[in-house]
Amino acid sequence: MREGQESILREVAEVAGRGGALLVNAPTGSGKTVATLAPLLEHAVRADHKILYLVRTHSQEVQVLNEARAIAHRLESPILSIGLQGRARRCFLLENVAEVKGATAEEHGKLCADRKRATERAMQGEVPISPPPELPEGGEIDLTDLDGCPYYARVLQTDLDGLVERFSAKLPLPHEFEKFCRDENLCAYELSKKLVPSARLITAPYAFFFHPYIRRSLLGWMGIGPERVDLVIDEAHNLPSHLRDLTTVALPQESVRRARAEVAERGDFQLPDGPSATRFFDIVGAAVEELIVALARDDDAVLPATVFEDALLTAIGGTSHRLDTWLGSLATWGENLREERRRERHLPRSWVHTVALTLLSWPQLEGEGYVKVATRLPRPALEAYALDASVAARPILDCHLSVHLSGTLAPLEEYRDSLGLGAAARLLGVPSHFPPENRRFLYDPSVTTRFEELRADPRAIGRLADRLVEVLQCLPVKTAVFFPSFDLLQKVLEAGLQSQLPGNVFIEYSKVPMGDLWRSIEGWKKDPEGTVLIGVAGGRLSEGIDYPDEELEAVVLVGIPYPRPTAKREALRSYLDAKTGKGWEYTVEAPAQRAILQACGRMIRSENDRGIAIILDRRAPNFAKQLPGLEPIGDLAATTRAFYGRRARWSRTASRAPGAAPSPGPTAGENP
Ligand code: SF4
Repeated sequence: MREGQESILREVAEVAGRGGALLVNAPTGSGKTVATLAPLLEHAVRADHKILYLVRTHSQEVQVLNEARAIAHRLESPILSIGLQGRARRCFLLENVAEVKGATAEEHGKLCADRKRATERAMQGEVPISPPPELPEGGEIDLTDLDGCPYYARVLQTDLDGLVERFSAKLPLPHEFEKFCRDENLCAYELSKKLVPSARLITAPYAFFFHPYIRRSLLGWMGIGPERVDLVIDEAHNLPSHLRDLTTVALPQESVRRARAEVAERGDFQLPDGPSATRFFDIVGAAVEELIVALARDDDAVLPATVFEDALLTAIGGTSHRLDTWLGSLATWGENLREERRRERHLPRSWVHTVALTLLSWPQLEGEGYVKVATRLPRPALEAYALDASVAARPILDCHLSVHLSGTLAPLEEYRDSLGLGAAARLLGVPSHFPPENRRFLYDPSVTTRFEELRADPRAIGRLADRLVEVLQCLPVKTAVFFPSFDLLQKVLEAGLQSQLPGNVFIEYSKVPMGDLWRSIEGWKKDPEGTVLIGVAGGRLSEGIDYPDEELEAVVLVGIPYPRPTAKREALRSYLDAKTGKGWEYTVEAPAQRAILQACGRMIRSENDRGIAIILDRRAPNFAKQLPGLEPIGDLAATTRAFYGRRARWSRTASRAPGAAPSPGPTAGENP
């Protein structure tokens, strides 16, 4: 039992008995997953509940199922655990169809439903289902060539009880399950669905529970009501922003352009007593563009009340009643197109339908829970941005219990209030049990990334680059450097950083697909020439990826990763100020604190890991409470010599076994 685990076990067992919410802030490596699962499994078996364990990343899912496997080995009666993933990952039939890439869950579901129906019809008529066409070299499979689904047919024919027995005896990790399905030509998505009724533990991405359309299906597969669901939310600090994004409604300029093109391609038509459909979309597109150009000078700007609706009505010369009539007929036209495309065996998508529904819902997205903004980034759009995460979080309250886990959930009150979990929610903070001498926190009072100072002094970026190089030269270990934004990262690279870095340097670029990023980073971690990894705080490299042992032993944060001061954030600050009186703490300080702790936490994943975290910003003492022993940087070369021992910078020969004591001080010249 690790320190702190006992309190997690006790609190989880208690919440299992009485129901309600438990919020646990416990550092990585504290064993919170197993301390949560053990009492929950006991309770779920006794009360005939199911545990739904929501994860954000693939690696978290693997970790949960690994723990479940370890527990299951010690039980007398077997327990089935199953990991769910979306069709985008598990549909073998459509994975090589270009048209399906980027399909929504609903669109993919319709394509699948049609092919399953065709399969069932063919099986009833005892017609053989043809295998999918061979993938042409360098090409894609045409969607219209795919009628029935042989992978689904195999699922219908398989011995389900036998598989339940097999997977209960040895719980498969996600990649093992997918490999088994591929080898056996079974649809991994449909098979995992069919195993859910027999499973006691189900892991799934957040969307399975928080997307209303998918949640209804999931509860149907589970065969129980939410009152018999024991919910766990992993890496829960991400949930409030995930839920805000889920309930935000956007009207991107690009969607309006595509809607117009769709009408032009299929044949323009007249709206009842109004303009042609293409003219209508021209007017909408122009109104959206004008507002973005006029208002959003930086990232985004708040839209004055009804300004978009007024601009549309003025340009069209109609009333809101007529506008609704036109939108209704456009929505019907789009729905018919979706059905037609579905009959033709194409992706059932219509941009006209999407845009018409967004415009119909636009006037309703008012009130204190929404703010309307014009945005330039990440794409030009109008948005009704959801401020209130508690609306989408309500289904949590229908479950018997919910346990919310994270290493950076503090301040717990902020999380509780954002999700509306109520004053009765239990809050548990578990302190770090790692040896304090294994971790040093330093900061450099001579620099800052404060926006006003960088703007006022043209040489400030160059100085920051020079200082960063000096610091890196004193660190004889694999080091991660995290910037507050891609913008600053790029500027510092261009100011001379890139040319001065030795060895294999890995740089995170914003638009690289996750799969490619994952593969490259795994390569860097194992590469003895891997020296510096550069990314952004709050980004994909600074959260969710583990770097144990010597894969990472130092972190440098360039500046404090305060969130960008956008109009949306300002609106959220005012909203939370009115609700809790803590707008600034919750929208500015708490996200920066989480980003710092997540970034620094990358290098310490176990009792044996050691590392130094350096913050290049004089504002670091604002976070001294969360960074024990934080002190000014002083003589960094001497500090690192004493901390890391006599390894030469980037030396391949100086590696030590994990957990082994560092060797004594350096000889001259080894460290620059
Ligand atoms: S049954 Fe499975 S493989 Fe077939 S279309 Fe549906 S998700 Fe894809």
